[in-house]
Amino acid sequence: MRLSKAFIPTLKEIPADANIPSHQLMLRSGMLRQLTAGVYSYLPLGYKAMLKAMQIVREEMNAIGGQEFYLPALNPESLWMETGRRNVPNFILSIKERDLVLAPTHEEVIGQIAAMHIQSYKDLPQIWYQIQTKFRNEPRPRSGVLRGRQFIMKDSYSLDATWEGLDVSYELHAEAYRKIFTRCGLRFFVVGASSGAMGGTGSQEFMVESRYGEDTVAVCESCDYAANIEVATSAVPPVGRVNDDKPIEEVHTPNIRTIDQLADFLKAPHERLAKSVVYRHNGSPVLVLMMGNDQLNETKLAAALGEGEVSPINAEELLGLTGADGGSIGPVNLKRFKIVADKRLEGANGLISGANRNDYHLMNIDLQRDVKLDGYFDLRSVEQGEPCPKCHKPLKVTHAIELGHIFKLGTKYSEALNAKYLDESGSSKPIVMGSYGIGIERIIACAIEQSHDEHGIVWDKALAPYPVHLIAVNMNSKEVVLTSNQVYRSLTEAGIEVLFDERANVSPGFKFKDADLLGMPFHVIVGEKGLKNGQVEIKKRKSGERMMVPKDDLVEVVKKLLEE
Ligand code: ATP
Ligand code: MG
Repeated sequence: MRLSKAFIPTLKEIPADANIPSHQLMLRSGMLRQLTAGVYSYLPLGYKAMLKAMQIVREEMNAIGGQEFYLPALNPESLWMETGRRNVPNFILSIKERDLVLAPTHEEVIGQIAAMHIQSYKDLPQIWYQIQTKFRNEPRPRSGVLRGRQFIMKDSYSLDATWEGLDVSYELHAEAYRKIFTRCGLRFFVVGASSGAMGGTGSQEFMVESRYGEDTVAVCESCDYAANIEVATSAVPPVGRVNDDKPIEEVHTPNIRTIDQLADFLKAPHERLAKSVVYRHNGSPVLVLMMGNDQLNETKLAAALGEGEVSPINAEELLGLTGADGGSIGPVNLKRFKIVADKRLEGANGLISGANRNDYHLMNIDLQRDVKLDGYFDLRSVEQGEPCPKCHKPLKVTHAIELGHIFKLGTKYSEALNAKYLDESGSSKPIVMGSYGIGIERIIACAIEQSHDEHGIVWDKALAPYPVHLIAVNMNSKEVVLTSNQVYRSLTEAGIEVLFDERANVSPGFKFKDADLLGMPFHVIVGEKGLKNGQVEIKKRKSGERMMVPKDDLVEVVKKLLEE
């Protein structure tokens, strides 16, 4: 590609509305423009990088026997009613005039095709995939293409006769994902994850550590334990029981609002304080008891409470239900509430909690004796430094960007959509499904997050729009024009894609700056000085290392560099 003819609108200034490096650099290097919140136009350079990522994904999906589909983004709304996902919060964008929705994922369509055409166990297993545009009603699109309302996903679906079959399909995907992200040059790690709105029995996420990540993960640096904070656990000790079996006692605690104030005022250790947090689940009030300052994890709570919506209760509603404000709520003699507690409080006594009367607390609460509990669940968020549940060494809690997610779905969708097969004995069974996604934009944005410097992008060979950026230093020199054109032709003939900066009236300094900003892995520089000795220069973008090469050897040298 000749740069004088290319549409690559680079920007000198850092765009004000972009606050993470990948977004800034994608705008500055002319890869991308925003159309509206969460919606982007890919310009030729950006789309070229996307195509490279898609090709790697495609090759590895084909290698595990995946068959490529192209499914419609427009879906009948009724299909999403069948699986109960029409109204999942922040999920579906719709086109009301025609009762259509824009598909946020494709379990429904896959299930419908399977229901029509899979008849017997002999038709299974299948791995079906596509690389296609998804739409989601993201409430806060931000961080550039990392969270769009329209984005490209590789989604695949495994169809198996048995759960053992699903395990095999799932492992094939896990291995393919490792290969894909490794080939893309990404540093990633895998964590155990929550299945969320998808349902299912097991899932893992492929993560890139980043301060801009919206996910929080707990990672053990001593063993292989790693989990999303939504499911992570630690070996923190339980609260347990104290010896003295005292009766409940009410104490006056004027103007005490927080756990820390309460601990100070009563000179009580944190582990004896049972904090009450209140929610509604499908409309009914729920009181959640947590130890001291332990953080309640809402994803864990939602999983513990089961199907349905979990929402906070506001102060007014709470006052109406209990006659007290949030800081004085507790589990003893609390009517109309379902009560659950964090596992850490299991069977504990000697606890202090609200008295359901403003400015009063109860001491010596025994959860076994005094409270009708609906169950203990793991509800707390793990914190930095807590002992790893596997090896007891300290855990690190950090932020990460989710690149991909693999799920063991099971039979939820096949049952809802009546996707069944006949087994060997002729009885009808639901197909056992898996679902597996990768965000193509996230591959590109994470690659840039992990590999850039103050001058611009530093592409890995695998994703670089062009492996070689050829610079004709001075277009007033006949020798430079002649040689750079020869080099361009011979690299192109060797099957190497070249971005050729042959712009006249652009200073060498400007050309070098642009080359650093665009970040192709190898810069080939044709200048008068080198040509005096029959040489051209190669600069490696990543290391800055330079070497002079006889111009006749250039193609061979570049080929070798690209194979390294
Ligand atoms: P997140 O928790 O980040 O919203 P998700 O759990 O909703 O992701 P999945 O439904 O598993 O994501 O989708 C599969 C993949 O699609 C994700 O791993 C991610 O790479 C990508 N993806 C999901 N939502 C978006 C989005 N809004 N913009 C860009 N990529 C996305
Ligand atoms: Mg999401």
